[in-house]
Amino acid sequence: MISHVLPTYNRAPLAFERGEGAWAIATDGTRYLDLGAGIAVNVLGHANPDLVAALTEQAGRIWHVSNLYQIPEQEKLADLLVEATFADTVFFTNSGTEAAELAIKMVRKYWDHVGRPDRIEILTFEGAFHGRSTGAIAAAGSEKMVKGFGPLMPGFRQLPWGDMAALEAAIGPATAAVMIEPVQGEGGIRPIADDDLRRIRALCEATGALLVLDEVQCGMGRTGRLFAHEYAGITPDIMMVAKGIGGGFPLGAVLATEAAAAGMVAGTHGSTYGGNPLACAVGAKVMQIVADGNFLAEVNRKAALFRQKLEGLVAAHPQVFEGVRGQGLMLGLKCRAAPADLVKASYGQHLLTVPAADNTLRLLPPLNITEDEIAEAVARLDRAADSLDA
Ligand SMILES: *Cc1c(COP(=O)(O)O)cnc(C)c1O
Repeated sequence: MISHVLPTYNRAPLAFERGEGAWAIATDGTRYLDLGAGIAVNVLGHANPDLVAALTEQAGRIWHVSNLYQIPEQEKLADLLVEATFADTVFFTNSGTEAAELAIKMVRKYWDHVGRPDRIEILTFEGAFHGRSTGAIAAAGSEKMVKGFGPLMPGFRQLPWGDMAALEAAIGPATAAVMIEPVQGEGGIRPIADDDLRRIRALCEATGALLVLDEVQCGMGRTGRLFAHEYAGITPDIMMVAKGIGGGFPLGAVLATEAAAAGMVAGTHGSTYGGNPLACAVGAKVMQIVADGNFLAEVNRKAALFRQKLEGLVAAHPQVFEGVRGQGLMLGLKCRAAPADLVKASYGQHLLTVPAADNTLRLLPPLNITEDEIAEAVARLDRAADSLDA
């Protein structure tokens, strides 16, 4: 008999009823050190007092108003995002998938608006993940996500990850956009080289194609900069944000330049819940904390410490691990065996980690994890690896 919850997830036999910072407390009282953070969502940890205050203060005033009206909380968050980034304008969504959906629509509308409705091809990359809508699975194109869900939305072409020669051959006067995660998350914590991202920007410039960055997982301070593309010193035309921006409250956004958004006039897109006061009140608080230079400097300091300890861990367990990769607190341990085994062994050490493709174990702690917690996490990973060595 089918479970009452649609069984699309292979769930671990663990349930959590409370959280405190980097710790998730299971229904049996066991404290788990959380290096998953809801898959890069809880950037400020569980039950963060500042976020709880922002949410409850807003909850006592007004929860939901339609986008038929002005929403001051939404305008405040849009102001913060525009001030901190390349963007001139922001549309709020409830998830990364919805952000991907709008990014795709915005690209198509742009080319229609400038009189080239035939320019629909969006170039994407193997290993990409942009969500589970029909548009987002067509964009990523992986067998696992698209099988049985055809016919797929046309207009996407996947190129091998990081293959600049393939991109140079594919991009041209018919290309609508290039869409890429600066650091692939689900694909296995794979950063694109800064030089390659600059080259992609230049190729877009030369052909007129829009550059769409998916920073749903790698954005919001995760890599040690507010957004990962800042390392390359380039800016996109359109960017998707979600996960960390709500600190655990469902929230996403599409950021765009005025030119890229030119076609998106009144009536062209909408959302009932997108940009609701609850989500935006929390999002504004997250932005105020995370977009701060001192906060990001701390992320980088702790990331360097974490990485150094992980290099030691890899050296101590050459049969289990191949190496460390990633940027900031978006870290991956490339494993020799299936990462699922390590995830399971980590549960045994009361440690939460997340598997990814390309045999990678993802470590995505809250950005305010402490040095002691980092040391504790590595000690637990070491014991988990011991159990696999044995
Ligand atoms: C998680 C993710 C998405 C989808 O976001 P949802 O909130 O799950 O819809 C899109 N892109 C990237 C890079 C992601 O990591």
